[in-house]
Amino acid sequence: MLQSTGKDSIVTEHLCRLSNHTVKTVFNNTTLDCADTYKIVNKHKNDWIITTPPEGFYQYVERENFIPTRFSRACCSLFKEGNHINHFDDVEKAIWIMGVRNDESNARSNRQDIEHNPKWGDRNWIGLLPIRKWTELEIWCYIILNNLEVNPKYKKGYKRVGCAIACPYSGKSTWYLDKYFYPKMYDRWHRILTKDFIEHGKWCTLNCTLKEYQHYWNGGVVREQPTKEVTEEFMQYKGIDSYEIAEKYFNKKCTCCGKNIRNKDTIAMNLKMHGRNITRFMCKKCLMKELHIDAKKWNGYIRQFKSQGCSLF
Ligand code: SF4
Ligand SMILES: [Zn+2]
Repeated sequence: MLQSTGKDSIVTEHLCRLSNHTVKTVFNNTTLDCADTYKIVNKHKNDWIITTPPEGFYQYVERENFIPTRFSRACCSLFKEGNHINHFDDVEKAIWIMGVRNDESNARSNRQDIEHNPKWGDRNWIGLLPIRKWTELEIWCYIILNNLEVNPKYKKGYKRVGCAIACPYSGKSTWYLDKYFYPKMYDRWHRILTKDFIEHGKWCTLNCTLKEYQHYWNGGVVREQPTKEVTEEFMQYKGIDSYEIAEKYFNKKCTCCGKNIRNKDTIAMNLKMHGRNITRFMCKKCLMKELHIDAKKWNGYIRQFKSQGCSLF
């Protein structure tokens, strides 16, 4: 059975133990849990199967410049399902018992008693969801009646215990708890967010300030157009001395193919090649085509302009 140390899998595991079958417990380590969870895992390290990915979440985030959002959550496929599939790759037949419940979310409302995850391919694996119709109240009543040990995060006020800090599905109230109970983890994640925002010039794609990003990083564009404060902060960080030039970096579409231009260096290349007064911009692909250069030359130009100290880059 799959154990996450959350309340639903605690109950599922207890039910499995009541059956006369030998059931093994698997903890898929996303590397993104907090100390309270790892303390529980450590207590069971000799009897649980613990899967660990070859590269941790934070290393992956830094290498790939990846920040999970509600619209892009590659981490789930990699650190949950991918990690599980890789670990058991050569197991031909298996029944995975899971504490998934229908009333947890819309996405889970149609989950069935027995299912096959398409990501398992043609493996002879079956998913079993014995508590899918249980309500949250029933789960808590069962835990209390059977005096089951729960993850201490619940007692701190958390509604869910998996994937700490960086999960885009956590609500803002969770972030306040994180800041209070796990300040080191919280600070580490916010340092990553700050670096990501500055390095990728996210002023221009999300139309927000760095401070606002700390509250909206999990969601997408903050507003349609930048406020004066956003543009001025961008100018200050990038050392651009003209407000009119700074405005040109925001919300541009390619006039040839209509694609959004999200990269600051592409805007800078447009301004460098066609002059600072231009009003029409091209995406990297269309501009390379017009300049008759390939990606290698494009990168060479950017390196050269940056090393010359050009303020546009
Ligand atoms: S952080 Fe959230 S989105 Fe990413 S793996 Fe964990 S649960 Fe999935
Ligand atoms: Zn284009």
